[in-house]
Parts: sequence; structure tokens; C-alpha cells
Amino acid sequence: YSPATKTFHSLRPTVPLPPVSLPLSFTSYLVSLLPDRFPSHPAFINASTGLSLSYPDLVSQIHSLASSLHSHLGISKGHVAFILSTSCLEIPILYLSLLSLGAIVTPANPATTPSELSRLIDLAGPTHFFATSSSSSMLPHHVTPVLIDSPLFRSFLESGSGSQLSDPIEIRQSDPAAILFSSGTTGRLKAAAIPHREFIANTAEFHALRSSETETMLLTAPMFHSMGFLMALKGVALVETTVLMGSAPVEKMLEIAAKYKVTRISAAPTIVVALTQSEDTVKFDLSALRQVCCGGAPLVCDAAERFQALFPSVEIAQGYGATEAGLVSRMIGPEECKHWRSVGRLNANMEAKIVDHVTGHPLSLGQHGELWVRGPTIMLGYIGDPEANAVTFDSEGWLKTGDLCYFDEDGFLYIVDRLKEMIKYKAYQVAPAELEQVLHSLPDVVEAAVVPCPDEIAGQIPMAFVVRKPGSKLSGEDVIKFTAQLVAPYKKIRRVAFINSIPKTPSGKIMRRDLANRFFSSSTSK
Ligand code: AMP
Repeated sequence: YSPATKTFHSLRPTVPLPPVSLPLSFTSYLVSLLPDRFPSHPAFINASTGLSLSYPDLVSQIHSLASSLHSHLGISKGHVAFILSTSCLEIPILYLSLLSLGAIVTPANPATTPSELSRLIDLAGPTHFFATSSSSSMLPHHVTPVLIDSPLFRSFLESGSGSQLSDPIEIRQSDPAAILFSSGTTGRLKAAAIPHREFIANTAEFHALRSSETETMLLTAPMFHSMGFLMALKGVALVETTVLMGSAPVEKMLEIAAKYKVTRISAAPTIVVALTQSEDTVKFDLSALRQVCCGGAPLVCDAAERFQALFPSVEIAQGYGATEAGLVSRMIGPEECKHWRSVGRLNANMEAKIVDHVTGHPLSLGQHGELWVRGPTIMLGYIGDPEANAVTFDSEGWLKTGDLCYFDEDGFLYIVDRLKEMIKYKAYQVAPAELEQVLHSLPDVVEAAVVPCPDEIAGQIPMAFVVRKPGSKLSGEDVIKFTAQLVAPYKKIRRVAFINSIPKTPSGKIMRRDLANRFFSSSTSK
């Protein structure tokens, strides 16, 4: 911590990054991390099918696919590839092929409804589409996606016999690698442009601090989410085996962890909670499990304690990050993992400030304020949204996270609250403004506000405060059913309260925090 500038610097040794001319393509950066002789363990296993992908096949299929996509579909630098699929073995191959062509990977959640998808497509402006035979029907009718479970795609994977492009495409780390969707601090949905540098800096940090043991990681986060995306790339950079699984009950997850002798589970806090509540943990042999990497939403201390009592030899390594910021902090080693209440220490090459969000003044050690971060893992900015960029970045390139935090004197970062309006249902983002718009399309609704409601399992659930028209018989059940038809399942409104008016600022902004505070303090005092 530098008191003069009130800046917190990472305590980890600086990790040298490769030259900017080395992007995150398999043909350059990631492949440079692989050993000369490929390991015999698989790179990826799809737990749903039991199929696996070896390291030699991964490399050869990436080269084949990149040259097929380039020659047959004309995909090249700057093209935007929209991908609608759950995690399967083809996804890491597709991501890495597109990255080596300089194309921009734009993954979306297949649970998204068609109208929500149209919005994402408008924001990102894709030139090419990829889907599976089951997800393709969700895309607009005028779009013809390449189906990744089709014979054509299979022929793309195998046709080039692993040869590289004869004319390599010049890509730099400052070029966009991905577009990821996020509501960030300003509420409405936006398309964040993520540079190759973000993934490189995060994987370089993992690589520099890797252990000598061979890990098998169970990736429960989907690869369309920033954390799932990064963790799958990290798995390759560290020559690990990454086990992909879709959403499944805890029992299934435990069965998979036992079957593949998983050493690490990468999971949202809801999974840690579910593990502590499951009676199935004793049924499976989890003796290989050494660590649960947890992040994406707050981990309740009580759940961490219950977990540690059940699994005394398993570390909980918390990490904190955001779509816009990459992985900002994490815990490394048994000593750091004891600091459950924190989200670890700043990652290498990162700087942070704690800023009073009212006065804008930087604060000192121990003081609570908004976390601002700067470093190589920060996004390029939101696409076509100068207004949101102006609010999100300051003039010196600091990214405002919208999280209320503090640092202790040992450099541990603590998240106190979320200043931004984002709701986190499990680790998924839900934007209140989006749900309010849906509620306003109900004829009996005069006004509506959506706020996060604390929930033991999901962390938070979206709750609607609704002002009905006089004499209306609209029930909470009606509101829940109506919105459920129009939004993805994870965004569903799960609780409703009817009130007489919605509190607003003089400029007409909904005072969501005020509303939530009033309601929850009165409901707990009853
Ligand atoms: P996303 O962009 O979906 O990754 O969401 C980022 C936000 O999730 C952060 O700004 C935090 O509000 C929250 N978040 C991520 N990791 C953690 C964590 N370990 N503890 C508490 N909140 C977290």
C-alpha cells in the first residue's frame, strides 16, 4: 500500500507478460506453455458423454478447425462469432481456433429466451453464428448457424490434418478476443470487449504459481461465463485435465468428482452450500479432492465453516473477479485459504484503490469504499456505449467495480456489499432494470421495482415490488408466471410484494436500495 497515492499494489511477485505481439492463440501463447512431449492425460473430459480429448488431438483439431473456418467460411481477424452452446468438447476447440484467427468469441447462455437473444445479437453485431442442434431454434429465423454437433463441423475438425494456416494472421494482445455480456455498474445490459491481454495475464499468473502436481479440475461454471471461459483456458495453460459438466444435482456432481478423481472443483458459492447440505457426500470417494475454488458471488461464512468441518483436508480458495475486470484477487496456499471472510489478495500485476463513492476521494487501509482496479486484465470497454464507458472508467484508466470493499493490513481484500444494482442469482447476473421493463408490459402494473432478496441457497433471488392499478386482482403468482414466460429461468422473479408507491430520487431514479432496506428491516423486525 502506498499511502502517498493511496494505491494498493499486488504483494505477489510481478509476472512478466509475453510481448504484445503474442496473442492468446493456441498457435502462439498457450502452445508455448505446453511441454515438448504431450502428457498422456486428457485435456478435457465431457462428464455428460464420458468422451475425452487428448492434448495431441486438441492441438491438431484447433489447427484443422482454424484453417477450415478461414477457408470455408472466410472467418478472419475482427469477425464476431456468436456461440450458443452448453459446455462440450467442441467448445474449447472452437474458442481457441477462433482466437488464433483473431475472431472475437461471443458466447451466450443457451437458457436465454429468443427475445433476449435478439438483444444480445444487436449489441454484439455478430458476423457468424455457432449453435447446437438443440439450441439453434432459439436464434432468429434469418440466421443460419454452423452446428457444432453436425457432420460438417466434425469434418472441419478432422480435414486439415492438424496443419497450421499457411499465412498466419497478425494479432496483438490489445486486440479483442471476446465479447461478454454484463450489466456492470450501470444496470442495463452491455457488451464488454475483452482483450487477448486479459486472458494472457490471468493464465500467466496461474502458470507462474502452478504446483508440480497434475490437477484434474471439475469445471462447474459454464464456458459462456467469464470465469468458466478463463478456467478452461487456464486448464490448458497448466496442462491439467478439465472435466466439463452441465448443471446437475449435487449427487451427480459428487459422482463425477469421484469417478474422475477430481483434485479441484471450481464452483459458485451455491455449490459449496449445496455440498454442506447434501447427505450424499459420504456415498462417494472424494479422497483425491484437495481444493474448492469458489467465486462469482459472496460465500457466506457459515457455509464455509460447515464445509470445512465436513471436509477438513479440502481448502476453500476464494477468488474475486468480474466480467469487466478478469480475475482480480484470489487465495493461494493453505495460509491464505484460512481467511474465509476475504476474497484473497490482489493478483500479480494488479493495482487497486478504495474510493469514497460519494466524494470520489481515495481512502486508506481498513476504510470501506468502492473498489477501483487497474492492470492488464481489464476490459477494453463496452462496445458502442461511450456513456457507460465514461461512468465505468476514470481518466487514469481505473475501472470502477461497483463493489464496496476494504483491504486489511495483510493485503486481504474484503467485499462488504454491492453498490451496483446487479442481482446475483447463484453466480448469474440479473439486471433489475431488464425485469422492470418486462413487468411494465403487464397491463395491471402501474409501477415496479426489482431488488435482490437474500436467499440461503441461491445467494440472492430477484424480488419485485409492484404498484397495481386501483381495483386490480393481479396476484403475486400471476406476476411470477407472466415474467417466467419472458425471461431465462435464472432471471425469474421469485418473490413479489405489492406496495402503494415506489420510492424515487428527485430526478426519478428508483431507490432500489432504500426499498430493499425498508422492506427487509421491517420483515425481520416482525
Ligand atoms: P460477473 O461479471 O458476472 O463475474 O459478476 C461480477 C460481480 O460478482 C462482482 O462485481 C461482485 O459483485 C460479484 N462477485 C464476484 N466474485 C465474488 C466473490 N468472491 N465474493 C463476493 N462477490 C463476488
